[in-house]
Parts: sequence; C-alpha cells; structure tokens
Amino acid sequence: MTTPAPTAAGRVLPTLNEDGSRRWIRPRPSPGSFWRRRRAVAYGLMFVFFIIPYLRMNGKPVVLLDLPSRQFTLFGTTFLPTDTLLLMFLMASLIIGVFLLTALAGRVWCGWGCPQTVYMEFLFRPIERVFEGGRSGSMQLDREGVRGQLHARRLAKYAVYLMLSLFLAHTFLAYFVGIDRLVRWVRQSPFEHPTSFFVMAVTTAGIMLDFTWFREQTCLVACPYGRWQSVLLDRQSLIVAYDATRGEPRGKGKDRAGLGDCVDCGACVITCPTGIDIRDGLQMECIHCTQCADACDAIMARVGKPPGLVRYSSQAALAGEPVRRLRPRVVLYPTAFAVMFGGFLYTLGTKAPADITVLRGLGEPYVVEADGRVANQLRVKITNRTGAPHTYAVSVDGAGPGEIIAPDNPLAIAAGATDALAMFVMLPTSAFHDGERSIVVRVSDGAGFTGTVPYRLVGPEHEDHHATPEAGKERE
Ligand code: SF4
Ligand code: SF4
Repeated sequence: MTTPAPTAAGRVLPTLNEDGSRRWIRPRPSPGSFWRRRRAVAYGLMFVFFIIPYLRMNGKPVVLLDLPSRQFTLFGTTFLPTDTLLLMFLMASLIIGVFLLTALAGRVWCGWGCPQTVYMEFLFRPIERVFEGGRSGSMQLDREGVRGQLHARRLAKYAVYLMLSLFLAHTFLAYFVGIDRLVRWVRQSPFEHPTSFFVMAVTTAGIMLDFTWFREQTCLVACPYGRWQSVLLDRQSLIVAYDATRGEPRGKGKDRAGLGDCVDCGACVITCPTGIDIRDGLQMECIHCTQCADACDAIMARVGKPPGLVRYSSQAALAGEPVRRLRPRVVLYPTAFAVMFGGFLYTLGTKAPADITVLRGLGEPYVVEADGRVANQLRVKITNRTGAPHTYAVSVDGAGPGEIIAPDNPLAIAAGATDALAMFVMLPTSAFHDGERSIVVRVSDGAGFTGTVPYRLVGPEHEDHHATPEAGKERE
C-alpha cells in the first residue's frame, strides 16, 4: 500500500514504511529535456537489443553465446574455450571501462543505459500509467489492497506485462541459440526441446517478477555495481546533485525573504524512481536518472528562477573546491584500459585460423619395432576457427613418406569444429640423441594457412640403439 514518504526522523529506507512494509514507488513522470534525451537513448537501445539476433557478420551471427558448445561469437569472430587469454583481456577491458566511465561520468550507465532502468522507465512504467490512470490511479489501487490487485485495470496491465516478458525472454534466448533455431522451436512442441523451453519459462517469470514486484529493489539491494559507487566515485566525479548553497534555506510561500531557491514543493522526490530526496546529498540509492533535475527545472521555470538547482555537477564543484579534470584515476584507468584492450586486439589480430596442439598418444611413450625403428604415437588436435570447412594435411619436417603412418591424413574438419588425427612417427634409433629427437609438426589447410608446432619425440638412449621392443616399458 502506498503511503506518504516517511519523515527523515522515521526513515529507515526510502522504500520501507516505518512498520517495515514495502512502500511502493509510483513516480510522477517529468518530461523535461533530460527525459527526452534519455527516451531517445532508451528506444535506441531497445531497438539494438531486438535487432541484434537477426544480424550476421562474416557469415556468422553478430552475437551468439553458444553455451553448450562453449563458443562465443562476437562481431563475426568465434571465441573458443581455448581463448582464455582473449577472454581475460576482454573481461578486464570491460571492467576497467566501467571504472573509467564511473570516474568520469558517475552512474551514467545506471541512469541512461542499464536495461533495468531502460525497460522499467520507458516500457513497463508507461504501460502501467496507461492502464492504471497515472500515479494517482496506481496509488488508489495500492490503497485498496487485495481488491486493488485484482482490479480489472491492474489485471489487464499484468496481461500486457506477460506478453512483453514472453517477447523479451524469447529475444534473450535468441542470443544463446540463434534466431533460426529459436523460430523453429517456437513452431514445435515444447516437449521436443524441454531444456530451452524451461529456460525461456524461467526467464519470462524472472522478467515478470522483476518489473511487476521487485522493481527499484534490483538497483537498491541486488545490483553489485551500486555497491561499488563509494569507491568508484570521487569528489570530482559527475553526479546529479542539489545545489544546497543556492537552494537553502528551503521554504514554501510567496515571501522569499531569507529563503533560498528551493520552494520545498517535493516535485524532485515524487518523480524519483528510487524514492529518495536528492536534497539529502549523494546517496547510494541515486541511479543518476536526472528525473529530479527535470522536475526541478520545471518548478524553477514556474517560479521565475534559473534552471539547474538540481543538475549535473560534482561534490567538489558544489563545495566551491577547484575542479580538477586531471587526477590519478583518470590517468590510471585509461592506461590500464589501453593495455588490456590493446592486448585483446593484438591477440585477436595475430590469432591463426586454426589452433593446433600436438599431444603424446596413450600407452607406451615409444615402441621399438621389429625392423629396429622407433615408433612414437602422436595426436594432432586441430580446431578449425574459420567459418568454412577445411581439410588439414599434417606432415613432419625431415620425415619421409614411409616414416609417418596416419590413416586419417588429411583430416576434414567442419567450420568451428575440433578433431584429432592419430599418427605414428617411425624413425631409426640413430635419429635419437640422449633419448630425444626434436621435430616440427606442420599443418596446412590448403587455403594459405600453415601452422607449425615443435615437438620432442622420445626414444632409446644411445647405448640402447639395439634395444628390444620392451625398451619403452623400461623407460616408464
Ligand atoms: S535522486 Fe534524482 S537522479 Fe537520483 S534516482 Fe532520484 S530522481 Fe534519479
Ligand atoms: S523540485 Fe526543486 S524546488 Fe522543488 S523541492 Fe525539489 S529541489 Fe526544491
């Protein structure tokens, strides 16, 4: 049930009543200049989210997070489980990028780009206002308790929410299974693909739960990013803030003698989607959405004062301290970001079209054949990283045709797949020195790529040149 905001004396949390019950936030929209820009950004981001599953690059989906195959395709490049270094560089770049963005622009991500804010404020909340009759209509239904919950207008809203949640869950699933497979599955019985159906159902339920019930609590108690703010922001970071020097002492009424510009109208509080009062200073609950800035600018226009009583500023600027654009964190973060992202681009640019690993075969390390030659068993594992099938020919530098036995050579491998070729390298015992022989395994795809892997064969020591077939066993 909605109740007036608790007074500062009784306030525990902005979304809790004094008795511990939930205080539902039904913010009044403030369609000012920031709101118009945020709306354009929000609908742009929604469009990007909906369209990406349909886009392709280099014959592959632009984004496909194929978890069962452990392959991530991003912008036409497929990352395999062996790409640990690449993924490490990418993840480190993203995390440092978030640090940098926060140091420079505060919680701009929360207010402008986070899906929670974007979908809540520009999709689910507008639908709620249409069905329930705006803020006052929602508050009336809240006051009616169970009757309000079962009111036709609220039930109709839930029905539309469910449709939207289903659509969002299917779009989300398309990022993991690809749009072609998803469209095929949608036309089939759920029993033919129960796991994906279950994932879709759970995602739909999660979206419904989030946007009907959990709402701002996601930002307040669930999101770890909000918890990091106290260490990510400094006094020079951009924040949405109330100019207390100009606004205080606040007060209502036409006689403004001795009063600041704040007319204590509460418009900035009523519009806040997390239910806080920006005039209480920088708070963890503030997602920097600028709705209070728009609300206050409208009030200032009405009372004939300049806008910006609530505005983008910094703690230092508001306190009259010197504004320092250059500070240690805005040098360190870009440097670390450049190193990590540079490492990512370099590793990506120098990545070969095939991954080759040479492994020792199972069993004895070597066997001395009846004709006196030493046989080493190898497994050449090849991953075709390209978007087309290739046939890979394997050879060993310096070894003649009779010295390699590999029935599957050359080996055909589908696009993005991995396969292994078993081979024996047969060399005379005289080829080994101190029980070893260095070789180079060469793999060519016939389309211009040749990869080499150095490898060490094992064999008998010099004094064992006339070793018997049991020599390998003795070595073990
Ligand atoms: S205080 Fe202002 S900027 Fe912060 S969340 Fe509330 S409305 Fe948005
Ligand atoms: S909207 Fe502006 S004038 Fe009204 S209470 Fe908030 S800060 Fe004061």
